[in-house]
Amino acid sequence: MTNSKTVEAIIGPPPPHMVGDGFRVHNFFPNSRLIDKKRMSPFFLLDYNSKVEFAPSEMPRGVSVHPHRGFETVTIAYHGKVAHHDSAGNSGVIGEGDVQWMTAASGLLHKEYHEKEFSRQGGLFQMVQLWVNLPAKYKMTPPKYQEITHDKMGLYKLPGDKGVIEVIAGDYQGLKGPASTFTSMYVYNARLKKGAEVELNFPSNFNTGILVVEGNATINEGHAATDHFVLFKNDGESIEIKTDEDAVLLVLSGEPIDEPIAQYGPFLMNTWQELEQAIDDVNAGKFGVLED
Ligand code: MN
Repeated sequence: MTNSKTVEAIIGPPPPHMVGDGFRVHNFFPNSRLIDKKRMSPFFLLDYNSKVEFAPSEMPRGVSVHPHRGFETVTIAYHGKVAHHDSAGNSGVIGEGDVQWMTAASGLLHKEYHEKEFSRQGGLFQMVQLWVNLPAKYKMTPPKYQEITHDKMGLYKLPGDKGVIEVIAGDYQGLKGPASTFTSMYVYNARLKKGAEVELNFPSNFNTGILVVEGNATINEGHAATDHFVLFKNDGESIEIKTDEDAVLLVLSGEPIDEPIAQYGPFLMNTWQELEQAIDDVNAGKFGVLED
């Protein structure tokens, strides 16, 4: 293929760290050497909790009350269940195979814990949390949620029973994903069977990467193993994927947001002044109240 995207790098999982006591994550960006805070824009952060077994616990593990402002958190559950509560009184459970698309925007407080029953039983846990940046003009819009359960996704069945492309955002072969987004992007789970051959196409200027969640795959001229991230150059448009075993791939491609970035902890704004404002607003109680 002459118009294929060049593989820029295949990145192994960085050493994991704990987020609270419930998430053991590999941060592929923005803290990696190869992917800085703008390289995958509009995707600002990718925390990957690779498969890990949690022992049973009566006290659910997780992250206690914290704020967010200026972006969206997208939580994709592969194994295990997460419960969340926020300062506006919203709560819910992100179940296996489901996605929660939370627009924090102007700000909220929330907490994220292993769901009670899952915690009690313990078991396999595997999750992704993405931070999707918002353009300046949308950073202070009201918070909202999109519960994208598996049955709501666009499900494109590959010919010959070779698997399914779950379209979460954007479209594939005319099938639209349910996520409403502020900028143009594609988010898919490609659940492929052994022997699958799939072609994906994204504009060359879109920042594009693929996380191998399960199995391994040949992706254009690269071969990526489990828990590796494939970063593409911004050159061609097409990506050809071939599998010689069952595989699950998280596919990300989005139009870059060409604006300054200022980040401090859970705030993602354009200027330092806006970060200071966010801290003042939290301290003044403007993000609401939530008990630990
Ligand atoms: Mn959070």
